[in-house]
Amino acid sequence: MVTFKRIVLAERPETDIQDNTFKTETAPLPDKSSLKDDEVLIKVEHLSLDPAMRGWLRDTRSYLPPVKIGEVMRAGGLGSVVALGPNVKSLKEGDHVEGILGWQEYSVVSEKTLTKRVPPQGAQLTDYLGVLGMPGQTAYWGITDVGQIKPGETVVVSGAAGAVGSTVCQIAKLRGCNVVGIAGGKDKCEWLEKDLGIKAIDYKASNFHEEFKKIGYLDVYFDNVGGDMLDFALTRLKQHARIVLCGAISDYNSVKPKGLSSYLSLIAMRGRLQGFIVFDYKERYAEAEKEMAQWIAEGKLKRRETVLYGIENCVKGLQGIFKGANTGKMLITLDQQNKARI
Ligand code: NDP
Repeated sequence: MVTFKRIVLAERPETDIQDNTFKTETAPLPDKSSLKDDEVLIKVEHLSLDPAMRGWLRDTRSYLPPVKIGEVMRAGGLGSVVALGPNVKSLKEGDHVEGILGWQEYSVVSEKTLTKRVPPQGAQLTDYLGVLGMPGQTAYWGITDVGQIKPGETVVVSGAAGAVGSTVCQIAKLRGCNVVGIAGGKDKCEWLEKDLGIKAIDYKASNFHEEFKKIGYLDVYFDNVGGDMLDFALTRLKQHARIVLCGAISDYNSVKPKGLSSYLSLIAMRGRLQGFIVFDYKERYAEAEKEMAQWIAEGKLKRRETVLYGIENCVKGLQGIFKGANTGKMLITLDQQNKARI
């Protein structure tokens, strides 16, 4: 019998994800005859690791239901079509598709949840998990629509060397803003300054707050981190500043976030702090994808990937995101043959 590996939620973590939060199972590989009318069997090739996954482990009301105990861990992914149910018309064997494939080596999902992917000029397939996919859409709509950036404005981005943050920095720069990225450590700051051409400050350095003050007051704060960094940013607002509440990774492992003490500045500065979820922009994804594909083709939008290989590294990779192990998009590649290609 041919089998494959999958990773299921074993228990909900209280704080940090533990090695026993998940467990690996072996399951029989479904054959073509078992597929329902609209189902597609996919060989999973790449999996996205996202900070949001920590939220999906919490049994609480949110924008998606929590992953259940015993369920395969939810994850966006890319794979190739192996077999089709009798009524699947839009795909053929060998097509590359993107969808919610989960932490598993093979996935069976409905045709209607999949998007066929063919990378445009200058892009590669895994860009659909990064700049041309959900993180890229988050960056694009977060900074343009929620942040309402205008040329000449001062834009500060936390989590700037990550998948969303590095894209936000570049979009804001392309739109004529003065951009400062905040990231952890010298290497990440060097990447932001030398490769992406934006000013960077290191939040792990002892002079972080002094460096932050040197920026002057800010028009837009795009926040991926939350916590103390957001609290400090609130003391640095210009009038009518916008704070784009995209994420708060510093608090995702907390039992209870400690909250903000500087929020009164929003009143004095007539500021706006707005959360958003990327899925709200689903109807407009094509617009962003088109513009970002154009920037990629023109060499104006750079990106990096941090890739771990093999399904067994999913847990380690997810834990790593919370320790800053990634620069750019954090991915798992399942097919070792792809190692040379990436
Ligand atoms: P990243 O690629 O940015 O990875 C997370 C990064 O966060 C790490 O590399 C690390 O970088 C930084 N980090 C981790 N822990 C801390 C901490 N305690 N304090 C400060 N920085 C920390 O992830 P994504 O680009 O995928 O996501 C970025 C944010 O956007 C997340 O908060 C995510 O939840 C959010 N998001 C929101 C969406 C929405 O619809 N609202 C959609 C997608 C993402 P460093 O080394 O610099 O510390």
